[in-house]
Formats: sequence, C-alpha cells, structure tokens
Amino acid sequence: MERKGPILVVEDEDDIRNLIVHQLQREGLTTRAASTGLEALEIARHTPPALVILDLMLPGLPGTEVCRRLRAEPETRDVPIIILSARGEEIDRVVGFEVGADDYVTKPFSPRELVLRVRAVMRRGKAPAAAAEPGAPSGSLEVGALVVDEGAHRVFVKGEEISLTATEFKLLLTLMRRSGRVQSRSQLLQDVWDLPPDMYTRTVDTHMKRLREKLGDAAGHIETVRGVGYRFSRELVADEG
Ligand code: CA
Repeated sequence: MERKGPILVVEDEDDIRNLIVHQLQREGLTTRAASTGLEALEIARHTPPALVILDLMLPGLPGTEVCRRLRAEPETRDVPIIILSARGEEIDRVVGFEVGADDYVTKPFSPRELVLRVRAVMRRGKAPAAAAEPGAPSGSLEVGALVVDEGAHRVFVKGEEISLTATEFKLLLTLMRRSGRVQSRSQLLQDVWDLPPDMYTRTVDTHMKRLREKLGDAAGHIETVRGVGYRFSRELVADEG
C-alpha cells in the first residue's frame, strides 16, 4: 500500500523550493514546504509525510540533524528521505546508516531526475507489503555467516541481526538470487532502483559500499567486478575495495 500524506520539501532557497514544489504538483502529487529544519520537523509531527526531500545546507538546524530527528520519532521513522546535496564528498556519510537517508540527488539536478527518484523511492517502499502476501513462502537464504529471512525482511550475520534499509535489502537479495553471476550496475539500477540503465551508476556504488559496511564479516561474499559491476559469491572473496 502506498504511504499517505504529502511530500515535504525542505529547502531554504526560494527558487529551488518553488521549482521542486511546482514540478511535484504538476505530477499530481500533494506537497508541503518548509524553509528551515525546525519548521520541517513541526510539519512532519502534525502531518506525517509520504516522503521528505531534504536539503543539507539549511540555516540553523542542518539537514543531517533533521534526518536524525525524523528517524528518532515513531511517526516519521519509516518515512523515505531523499537528500539534496551540493557537496559530493559528504554523500557517503549522509546516505550512510548513521543518518539514514534513502537516496540523494546532487545539485544542480534536473526536475525530471528528482521526480524519477521520488517515484522510485515510493515504489520501493511498497516492496515489503508485497513480499508479505498471504500464502507466500517465507524462505530463508543461508550463505556462510549470512542468513537472510526473505519473508520477515531480516538479515543476520553470525547470528546478530543487522539493520538494512529497504533498498539495501533488495540489493542484497537481488545479488544472492543471482549468486555466481556478474550483475552490471545498469542491471542493478533497473532491477533494484527501477531507474533507467546507464544513469546514476554512482548510486549503485554508494549503496553497495554502505551494504558492505553493514555486512561486516559477510561483506566478502560480494565481489567487485572491475568495470562491470558486482557478483555474489558463495565463497568469501578478497575484498579489493
Ligand atoms: Ca540550502
């Protein structure tokens, strides 16, 4: 089922905020807008949004802190968050699990790209409901120290549960189901992100890096195939970074 509520656009620059709001409304989506982090948190508390588009560079409360606070409240814990950032070097940390954003778009961005991302993130959010269909087998995949409970959407490494986002879970599952076969970045973008191939390939690498960090000792099952993509291997392979 689709998340209810408006799309909350948090951006202090009027031109950019208005452009985003305009583009989303043209797509028939309901929006709310905020120009500061505190205003955004206030709106989110009263009207839990279906998705948040969050600029990092805000006056006062920075975007990373807004993100953390949204994740800390039960009402907004699961709301997908897309980060707007002008600073490439921040991205790994921002999309990283410590902040918990679902995706990011680097400025300057095209409104078309942003809408594609919004649509894709919202579709992804629906995946767990589909997987929990009544009667669907709740299979468990086990490779070495890694155990993936497909039905329950839970992942364990050496018996310890690790917390993955919906995207990371889908990425891991996609690789495991095609164990031994190389998956190109383009293929993964299509299958995991629902995005057109040959665009945004850095998205795959960023999320893969984060997934590997979370997998810890089991990260060695995911092998980088230089110039092509990734491969899940039943054996632990050397991590060539
Ligand atoms: Ca800004």
